[in-house]
Amino acid sequence: MYPIVLRAQARELHGQGMALRAVARKLSVPYHCIRYWCSITRTPDSFHDYRGECPRCADPPRHPADAQRYAYLLGQYLGDGYLALSPRVPVLRIACANAYPGIMDECEEAMRSLVAKSVQRVSRDGCTYVQAVSKHWPCLFPQAGPGRKHSRTIVLEQWQRQIAEAHAGRLVRGLFHSDGTRVVNRVTVKGQVYRYPRYFFYNESSEILGICGDALDRLGVAWRRNRRNSLSVAKREAVSTLDGWVGAKR
Ligand SMILES: [Zn+2]
Repeated sequence: MYPIVLRAQARELHGQGMALRAVARKLSVPYHCIRYWCSITRTPDSFHDYRGECPRCADPPRHPADAQRYAYLLGQYLGDGYLALSPRVPVLRIACANAYPGIMDECEEAMRSLVAKSVQRVSRDGCTYVQAVSKHWPCLFPQAGPGRKHSRTIVLEQWQRQIAEAHAGRLVRGLFHSDGTRVVNRVTVKGQVYRYPRYFFYNESSEILGICGDALDRLGVAWRRNRRNSLSVAKREAVSTLDGWVGAKR
């Protein structure tokens, strides 16, 4: 994980007018990280104010203060997340591959920006669960229910759809960080190596595949259902756009 101070420095330099690529070079941090940091306008300190409060229990209910992080966590939840409703306090659990600590950090930040007072990382079955308890997780993820997600109907509520539409890129990022892959096919022609990166998103729920497809449409990313349980993004321009939102896992 990069130190918070580095993020602040990046935002400051960018705020002074330095281009994102120049900031990336100066701080020796990958471009997509810099772009991500600088796209978040709320600072960690300002969203701490909202910790522990539930935006959906407010009167009237409102959107989460950090809707971008909510969209990301919604993607993670719809992908590989699990909201355990029993026996006492609900636990939101995102299974992360050990190889991608950056994704764990992103999940943790999103949980903290919502209603998690503390976030645990638990090693299990060769992966790490990033998890937090809160009685308000079901307010934020009303799709929770008994059984696997693909065995029940998954429909977003209207307020969730508004966030999914406004922050389609973050939703897609969360979806691909959980159930997606980016692969590079190499083809050699007359000694010249050509690389063809592609993205795949796998999910057993046709509704979740639909949510992913809708978000990709919103970003103008061409995709197709290549199998019953997956969709692929293969056109060069589409891959390039998606690289801006997702990129290689880290
Ligand atoms: Zn609530």
